[in-house]
Amino acid sequence: MIQAIAPEIVAADNSHKQPTSLLADASKRLEKALQYISISEDAIARLSYPKASLTVSIPVRMDNGSLKVFTGYRVRYDDTRGPGKGGVRYHPNVTLDEVQSLAFWMTFKCALLDLPFGGAKGGIIVNPKELSKAEVERLSRGYVNEIADFIGPDTDILAPDVYTNSTIMGWMMDRYSTIKRQLTRGVVTGKPLSLGGSQGRDAATATGAFYVIQMILPKFNCIPQKTTVAIQGFGNAGATLAELLFHAGYKIVAVSDSKGGIYAPNGLDIPSVREHKYSSREIKAVYCRDSVCDIVEHRTITNQELLTLDVDVLIPAALENQITADNAPDIKANYIFEVANGPISSAADEILNNKGIHVFPDILVNAGGVTVSYFEWVQNRNGWYWTLEEVNQRLKKKMEAETEATWAIAQRNQVDIRTAAYVHGLKRLGEAMDAKGTRDYFIRN
Ligand code: NAD
Repeated sequence: MIQAIAPEIVAADNSHKQPTSLLADASKRLEKALQYISISEDAIARLSYPKASLTVSIPVRMDNGSLKVFTGYRVRYDDTRGPGKGGVRYHPNVTLDEVQSLAFWMTFKCALLDLPFGGAKGGIIVNPKELSKAEVERLSRGYVNEIADFIGPDTDILAPDVYTNSTIMGWMMDRYSTIKRQLTRGVVTGKPLSLGGSQGRDAATATGAFYVIQMILPKFNCIPQKTTVAIQGFGNAGATLAELLFHAGYKIVAVSDSKGGIYAPNGLDIPSVREHKYSSREIKAVYCRDSVCDIVEHRTITNQELLTLDVDVLIPAALENQITADNAPDIKANYIFEVANGPISSAADEILNNKGIHVFPDILVNAGGVTVSYFEWVQNRNGWYWTLEEVNQRLKKKMEAETEATWAIAQRNQVDIRTAAYVHGLKRLGEAMDAKGTRDYFIRN
């Protein structure tokens, strides 16, 4: 007999925190930061567990008439500073552990940027490349059917992540609004402009990273024209950042996607590579400034080779755990800017620090995305929409202020930038938790 599996909301019971590797590894960053800041034991205890984790089964009618059931997750790690906020990932390797880790990072990222949000994340175990567009739409709407009671503009707000985009965000907002019988734009960010999206959201993660890079590299006397860059991942974040850096004069010598990469020591013409990738879904070193595209001299490389190239700047912009204790000793870049979430394991971090490589962490570098998501949420709630210039001006101000504050903490405490970023976010989280708590009553008695 087939049994219906109801969505399961698990909360306030520590048994749901599996002793799994990714979240445990992510938590090590918290432990290190705690050496440099004093926050209450209550706050530490609360930050040690995700607040709630939801697992759902999503039945989808496939184009051939069959029914396929997909597994999806939504995790709210913490919502002390505001509603949960985080993207939804479509990938065959999605696990609850991964989603919990991503929600953990979102918690610190929102606190670091001083956004009035907590941290959340979602994911579906699926390879969207194997689905038709109509199947992806039914899957996306089905996911919202199952998690509708768990999300909302004041409880938990969705956004795009790996293999999800503005079209999918539009479907999700539409489905939620249908369920609630009320147009609710603020439940999803990263929507198409025509459905209440914000100017600049598509490019926000890359734009924010670009502002950080432009602020940091001059501190090390790096000049764009003399700085070589390798970028792993050529999607929304990686390809857009490649183009921004290219136009600023940096020499992008290598890029890659899930199928592999290309390396050209004299630099790649990024707009052409991007154009070719969009038209052929394949990364090739091409030059398309005229009416014809020429294949440019280049070498194809694997993703592993890209990571260990002899470049000044390495930008992982694909998935987590790309640099581990295994390949960290071979990394030759002087500066790493994490555009992907969690691309470096904590063990690799130690190795890179000991080698004197400067690592600029995900929770700072890729925070432009969630910052403009916040702007979108504000605009949706006010019904007052900003120009691209206004969005980018506000984004720049925020990214620069928090980068400078993080840099100052690192200098003051003589710690790496990642630890400084956690200290910065942790201070805000600890203060909010203590302001809500009842610990003082007990201490006085
Ligand atoms: P995307 O789906 O647009 O692009 C992902 C890219 O990574 C694609 O080019 C894909 O081919 C490549 N890729 C996948 N598997 C790979 C592998 N094994 N090796 C090398 N490349 C691989 O996703 P995105 O939105 O650009 O997100 C990329 C990273 O940035 C993710 O870690 C995501 O969490 C993070 N991020 C994205 C945003 C955002 O607003 N899009 C915000 C913050 C962080």
